[in-house]
Amino acid sequence: MLEKIVIANRGEIALRIQRACKEMGIKTVAVHSSADNNLKHVLLADETVCIGPAPSTESYLNMPAIISAAEVTDAVAIHPGYGFLSENADFAERVESSGFTFVGPPSSAIRLMGDKVSAIQAMKSAGVPCVPGSDGPLGDDADENLRMAREIGYPIIIKASGGGGGRGMRVVHAEASLIAAITVTKAEARAAFDNDVVYMEKFLERPRHVEFQLLADNHGNAVYLGERDCSMQRRHQKVIEEAPAPGIDDEQRKRIGERCVRACQEIGYHSAGTFEFLYQDDEFYFIEMNTRLQVEHPVTEMITGVDIVREQLSIAAGEPLSIKQEDIRIQGHAIECRINAEDPKTFMPSPGLISLYHAPGGPGIRVDSHIYSGYRVPPYYDSMIGKLIAHGGNRDVAIARMKNALAEIVIEGIKTNVPLHQEIFQHAAFQAGGTDIHYLEKRLGLV
Ligand code: ADP
Repeated sequence: MLEKIVIANRGEIALRIQRACKEMGIKTVAVHSSADNNLKHVLLADETVCIGPAPSTESYLNMPAIISAAEVTDAVAIHPGYGFLSENADFAERVESSGFTFVGPPSSAIRLMGDKVSAIQAMKSAGVPCVPGSDGPLGDDADENLRMAREIGYPIIIKASGGGGGRGMRVVHAEASLIAAITVTKAEARAAFDNDVVYMEKFLERPRHVEFQLLADNHGNAVYLGERDCSMQRRHQKVIEEAPAPGIDDEQRKRIGERCVRACQEIGYHSAGTFEFLYQDDEFYFIEMNTRLQVEHPVTEMITGVDIVREQLSIAAGEPLSIKQEDIRIQGHAIECRINAEDPKTFMPSPGLISLYHAPGGPGIRVDSHIYSGYRVPPYYDSMIGKLIAHGGNRDVAIARMKNALAEIVIEGIKTNVPLHQEIFQHAAFQAGGTDIHYLEKRLGLV
């Protein structure tokens, strides 16, 4: 097993990783910015190293500082969590070449999947269904591009191969604007990602976001842990996630899951990974792979009983997966609400001192959060301060438990989006399940 690891992240996910390490007898080094001395996992770590000032560019994104922290503490591995450096192939490579274990996939797999054109090509060869599109970079031949778009059918979307975080995409509704849209997206992609490769896809107008969780080891074994529905989004940010996805049956789960397993094996993937799909009219369309642990991993843990972080750590130590596909049973339903320090109506961040905090509880309730009474939420980072997860024998029970938890939780001193969650849980469309990715913004009057 790994003796000691550096947790190169902050907040709830750093605490989540630390909890798994403690269970497994792995010592932890918390690397943190000077604004984060009072983070819960920093207070509970075996060792701590301050790696820089508050701005994340100088701390949580500071590769040499993180690698030096691993060196001076004699750690053997680095867990990047999510966000920050977790999908940075250069970082993974530097970790590997400095002689440490990167708790994640090989840097080559991060690089392959970080480029959308090469990712789609790899998925197609594994039989994973993709969005009808150009099947590769667009060339300069305008007539050819017009012909291709006509064949795919409008609306179409032009996407930058190197894009991410919802940037580098443009929807085209009619032929007259196609060529200009390609030119502009290329120029933007060159400026933003230093890579002007763009491709085209059919634009799906009312899809759901359904993603598959995979685990793969270094011995060629891979399993799928079912899917999650993360369609409740605002500005491409997930707000509520659930597993399983409403209306997806065992046959669909098996068909797509098995193809994702094959894709992992073909690209030499190991660790946890997520295949994101748009789902519309009973069809799945792969859009991208996330080569890291995800915020919403707990809903999958609740319905499968598999500890994804524990598996990640033991895979990184070279162990084979502890579970086989036939052992995985989906039990009940789980929903997660992301709790953000923000105004529930304007979405303006609301950092500051938490004067009082009471966590909710009861059957099926899990709280993944680093906050406590007296903790000051710094203004420098993402506004998510925790996740509330409710599990029940079926979706209705999970919803009822979440409503209780939302009514019980007390966070005073700052504003949070708890009232927004309470409102969404009253919506008949949410209660019915299966809303598309535009539902929340339409309902909030934002589009
Ligand atoms: P990023 O890496 O920037 O997150 P994605 O490829 O995951 O890019 O796309 C981000 C979002 O853009 C998707 O979740 C979806 O809302 C929208 N999108 C992307 N491709 C399509 C498509 N072909 N049709 C409709 N919406 C799309």
